[in-house]
Amino acid sequence: MTALAHVSPESKARKFDIASVRADFPILRRLVHEKPLTYLDTAASAQKPQSVIDVIKNQYENEYANVHRGAYWLSETLTTKYEDARESVRAFLNAKSDKEIIFTKGATESINLVASSFGRSLKVGDEIVITGLEHHSNIVPWQMLRNQCGVELKVAPVTDDGDVTLDSISKLLSPKTKLVAVAHVSNALGTVLPIKDIAKLAHDAGARILIDGCQGIVHEDVDVQDMDCDFYAFSGHKIYGPNGIGVLYGKEDILEEMPPYQGGGEMISTVTFDHSEWAELPAKFEAGTPPIVPAVGLGEAIRYVSAFDAASVSAHEKALLAYGTEQLQAVEGVTLIGTAERKTAVLSFVLEGAHPHDLATILDRCGVCVRAGHHCAQPLMDRFGVSATVRASFGLYNTQDEVDVLIEALGRAREILC
Ligand code: PMP
Repeated sequence: MTALAHVSPESKARKFDIASVRADFPILRRLVHEKPLTYLDTAASAQKPQSVIDVIKNQYENEYANVHRGAYWLSETLTTKYEDARESVRAFLNAKSDKEIIFTKGATESINLVASSFGRSLKVGDEIVITGLEHHSNIVPWQMLRNQCGVELKVAPVTDDGDVTLDSISKLLSPKTKLVAVAHVSNALGTVLPIKDIAKLAHDAGARILIDGCQGIVHEDVDVQDMDCDFYAFSGHKIYGPNGIGVLYGKEDILEEMPPYQGGGEMISTVTFDHSEWAELPAKFEAGTPPIVPAVGLGEAIRYVSAFDAASVSAHEKALLAYGTEQLQAVEGVTLIGTAERKTAVLSFVLEGAHPHDLATILDRCGVCVRAGHHCAQPLMDRFGVSATVRASFGLYNTQDEVDVLIEALGRAREILC
């Protein structure tokens, strides 16, 4: 079942028509360096549809107040919208309860929350298993925990095509494993990991599983009950929503057992100078004034993507990936990094004789936005013996014509650099 499948059938009435989808994104009409914008950096952050922009603008113009505290109509109205956004996320993930949806400022904060709170139950000799293709956000918090309490970090190796085998994960698991923390989809290569199988391996070993869903939430089916994950983390800005908002899904019983991550307003039920009592979930993990406007914006982004039939969006993105792969591989001197069988929406490559940053600068002059660098995955770059790659990544608004623009611009760059 897909994440979109949980949204009521009548809300999925919109046919996926690329021209009308593009018309929803005002930024796609602008020029860059007097060229049409060719935005191929959705893995870094997605562009925003007009409906999300309108919702944000309307909140500040007409609806703004703090939430949960005001005994007046404006505050109550926005509180309802904030909590409705939580319900939209719950339905999108097919979580059992709204209590399992914690709003954070992004995936990075979601993962740090787990490291800081769940991590407090770990002790010397316990082990955490990650993979070699993780984003720094799913490496560094565990290293910090290792430095604090002496847990061991084990890393499943990456294969030559940029994949991680179940076998290699399985070999690292033991009764000492307390957590397996893996990406759903690699931001640097686009590899899709078999997270349902990994969750089973983790649970069979008696460990919890955290999925870094930053890229997975955008391109893959997400049903937290079906995949049986304990935690799922993602950022709103990758899924056509605002930045400054993220989600941590956690199973209710696990979140109940975890201590609060931060202290302050909202997360308490009573406070005296001697003692404080915590609020119920999810407030226990939402200290301080929450990211109100971004959360409501995320709710709208979810409504936006949920209006389409998920299979049509997925077919469109897969066709772009197949076409882009074929075209890129035909360019002399290009090496594609990451050719796993299960892959999505990302083309990471190097061009012989050209530094990725120089390449990206020339592509920019042609109106093409790509990312050049280590993509916050330095250990993965080391694995492939490169310091950086160029990454073109697709969203639902990209077209085959834009792949052609990329290829043509690459040709120009080759003439200049190689
Ligand atoms: N994990 C992955 C796989 C990502 O792609 C990203 C963002 N590039 C992150 C974690 C961190 O997300 P954020 O910076 O929005 O917290």
